[in-house]
Amino acid sequence: MMYDESRAPVFTLTSGPVDAYPEVLRALGRTVLYDYDPAFQAFYENVALKAQKAMRTGAPPLILQGEPVMALEGAAASLIAREDVVLNLASGVYGKGFGYWAARYAKKVEEIEVPYDSAIDPEQVRAFLKAHPEIAVVCVCHHDTPSGTLNDIEAIGAIAAEAGALLLVDAVSSWAGMPTSAAASQAAVYVTGPNKCLGCPPALSLVAVSDAAWAKIEANPDAPFASMLSFTDWRHAWKKTEPFPFTPSVSEINGLDAALDRYLEEGPEAVWARHALTARICREGIKAMGIELWPIREEIASPTTTAVRMPEGIDAGTVLASARARYGVSMSAGRSETLGKLVRIGHMGPTAQPAYALVAIAAIGGALKSAGAQVDVPAGLAAAQAVWDAAIDQ
Ligand SMILES: *Cc1c(COP(=O)(O)O)cnc(C)c1O
Repeated sequence: MMYDESRAPVFTLTSGPVDAYPEVLRALGRTVLYDYDPAFQAFYENVALKAQKAMRTGAPPLILQGEPVMALEGAAASLIAREDVVLNLASGVYGKGFGYWAARYAKKVEEIEVPYDSAIDPEQVRAFLKAHPEIAVVCVCHHDTPSGTLNDIEAIGAIAAEAGALLLVDAVSSWAGMPTSAAASQAAVYVTGPNKCLGCPPALSLVAVSDAAWAKIEANPDAPFASMLSFTDWRHAWKKTEPFPFTPSVSEINGLDAALDRYLEEGPEAVWARHALTARICREGIKAMGIELWPIREEIASPTTTAVRMPEGIDAGTVLASARARYGVSMSAGRSETLGKLVRIGHMGPTAQPAYALVAIAAIGGALKSAGAQVDVPAGLAAAQAVWDAAIDQ
């Protein structure tokens, strides 16, 4: 018995797009209201206030009308002025990619780059900023998803603040899956989205902008306005008395509303604990099978994605195709630099559940075995279940 490739998989354990929560899918089917109907304007304000509560910001975050790549480009265009020297921190594909946007707007981009299975050393950032007092903006990706690795944005944020530079954070695949916030990282601009750990389909971005960042954006004559990339267009749109710059994505706002309700009702701390436990079970199972994790140190392994290093001579594409065909489990490949070298298991939103870690271990283990790798699948499953049981009994 095999799973037909032309039909949806049984389990989508990817690191984005992810499975959406059933509540979100139902909300996407709500009545589509006219955006200037007073009921919609009040509803929109309410969603923005819920997003503020969920993101723990001082003001409602911007809700932008495109998935987070658009907000990241908008962040570069808005915050970085043509006289700015920027320090880009690259420990993976997204961090590296941000540097290309920064280069489009900045006078100069400096970069610290480390191998994509490791993390930025905050002390290296401190030393760099000391030697380059001209740096105005520091850019960093919190969880570089194609590597499943975390950067210490709280340490980096404190160092940037000390040096008087503004921090721009890509927290798209970490926010709502672990303890992280714009405030804790002292971020000037903190870009995230509802399409990863909040369990929505890809369509919107959420952006927290600090007062210092607003001052810089307002003073930047090149900051986009009357544009899909604009931050300023949306600054006051959350208020029910203010106009929208253009029609908001009504159905997606309905979905976001349901996702925020779910997140706040379950409780952020409980949601983060669920992500952390699922990832820990997954890592223990992978290691016990005799397979290595991609991150060089487990402390930098993300709680929202487990990246599994392929053994010598085993192709990640073959393993992914086999997991899909044999077990009906869809997982993520690497991207550019990490493509072919690893397989990623997402623990995001509804799939951040311990039982899915066991499904993933069975599927990766079985697929590796059928590709000729030396793996002990039963040992992996037993180790995973032992971690789960220990957590239940705690
Ligand atoms: C998912 C994600 C984004 C959004 O980008 P897409 O590739 O279009 O999904 C941005 N940054 C990070 C770190 C992400 O994981």
